[in-house]
Amino acid sequence: MGYGGCKMSDKTNSKTKFIFITGGVVSSLGKGLASASLAALLQARGFKVRLRKLDPYLNVDPGTMNPCQHGEVYVTDDGTEADLDLGHYERFSGIPATKYDSVTSGKIYQRVLDKERHGDYLGATIQVIPHVTNEIKAFILGNITDEDFVLCEIGGTVGDIEGQPYLESIRQLAYELGRDRTMFVHLTLLPYIPTAGELKTKPTQHSVKQLQEYGIQPDIILCRSQIEIPQNERKKIALFCNVKEECVIAALDAKSIYHVPLAYSAEGMDYQVCKYFGLETKTKPDLDKWKHIEEVMQNPEGEVKIAIVGKYQLQEAYKSLAEALTHGGLANHFKVKIKWLDAEDVEKQGPDELLNDVSGILVPGGFGNRGTEGKIAAAKYAREHNIPYLGICFGMQMAVIETMRNVAGIKNANSSELSDDCEAVVGLMTEWDKDGAKEIRHKGGDLGGTMRLGAYPTVLDEKSKVYQIYGCKNISERHRHRYEVNIKYEPVLKKSGMVIVGKSPDGKLPEIVERPEHPWFIGVQFHPELKSKPFAPHPLFVAFVKAAIDNSRLI
Ligand code: GLN
Repeated sequence: MGYGGCKMSDKTNSKTKFIFITGGVVSSLGKGLASASLAALLQARGFKVRLRKLDPYLNVDPGTMNPCQHGEVYVTDDGTEADLDLGHYERFSGIPATKYDSVTSGKIYQRVLDKERHGDYLGATIQVIPHVTNEIKAFILGNITDEDFVLCEIGGTVGDIEGQPYLESIRQLAYELGRDRTMFVHLTLLPYIPTAGELKTKPTQHSVKQLQEYGIQPDIILCRSQIEIPQNERKKIALFCNVKEECVIAALDAKSIYHVPLAYSAEGMDYQVCKYFGLETKTKPDLDKWKHIEEVMQNPEGEVKIAIVGKYQLQEAYKSLAEALTHGGLANHFKVKIKWLDAEDVEKQGPDELLNDVSGILVPGGFGNRGTEGKIAAAKYAREHNIPYLGICFGMQMAVIETMRNVAGIKNANSSELSDDCEAVVGLMTEWDKDGAKEIRHKGGDLGGTMRLGAYPTVLDEKSKVYQIYGCKNISERHRHRYEVNIKYEPVLKKSGMVIVGKSPDGKLPEIVERPEHPWFIGVQFHPELKSKPFAPHPLFVAFVKAAIDNSRLI
């Protein structure tokens, strides 16, 4: 089951300090970004950090949740389907997240119930306190090595019923580990009332009161606000919420998420954290890399427009993708402007009118029938008009289907995910290798956690464009899919101008396709966006954005 579940004191390094981040007033305030930014600042002061997310909902993981509600499902190297905040953590800290860094109530309860069935609690009545809370504490304390700080973000908002065991657990941990090893950061909102011309502190006061009812006294209050927070308001929050005035920290709306660490540092966030724990604060944090990003972002050499032809209305569903495009832009000193297109609109209106002003087309991952014909039309448009195309996962499958239908002439080519009555050029994977063992799947099996998930190796063809882009033959990328292009179509595809240039090491699974005759047309079965970072932009995105820039110069 996997997240350790070790006992309280057996693994925890006594120097590790814990920072718990909670949120109040409203959801979507950006706790994930706040946590990631604080972690980046502590790193900039030379500390080793680790970030963890605790989600109170009852799903075992977000893998089966609708992306329109919950946003992107982030996938780690070890194949954990996790909350998108883990993506922020990785992008800001550069530390790959693992299964030990993401938990939900579903997972916690599953573990408690497994133990109950196994007889581990024999004789006891199983209760939220202590059995569920002990499991939460074991998750927080488990699998820590030599980290100076572990930052734990509690999902949801203070007052949510599902969140209560988490608040109780972190309260207990503060008691058990001592306040010199634990800190509470609470993120709230100061609404601005234009008619009164005022920022309101009352919701923050209520939210902190509620935290205090659970026995938690915040040490830092991070206040999201549209405008500067006047000293008077800071004083009020400090006095009524029982925190030091200098620990009421403004988190103003930022022009870019990559500005947030600089903004927090200017407000004294990392200084206050170090001071709280009695750590050296004489030297300033090294923020050069963040300043460099800021500099490049503010002075781009130009702008390039790239279409994302998706189907989930919520942009959060494509979080890592949008970030990876930004990173690709940064590497080229260009601003990437995303034209968000609904695949159903492309289907209805046709691609000409919607895609004629973009310099690159990206068809992202997806599931199910809705919008597929629009995605296929977008791939066709890119192929016929020599527009740079990047197909990711479903976007690669759609490009293959397009070539099979419109170039190879197999009119009923499709994926067995989408039709039972078709020539299944993309079919269900029933068997594949994982670390030397076989993974087996059946039609109609469980949907949760059963895809081909996490890092798998791909071997590149040395004559390909992707080989030039990656600069090496063996790569590893993160996957999340159930269907796969059938390798038996390789010769037909080749005849139709599409070459399989990346395969699994056993040669059975196509991983990358490209069109050698096209200026830039690449489809990948994996998700490169998950590994892109502002300081290490993913080579595929750097190359794709560059191709789009070159293309825009031709327009
Ligand atoms: N639905 C497709 C599959 O399962 C693609 C998945 C994806 O794009 N992540 O294979």
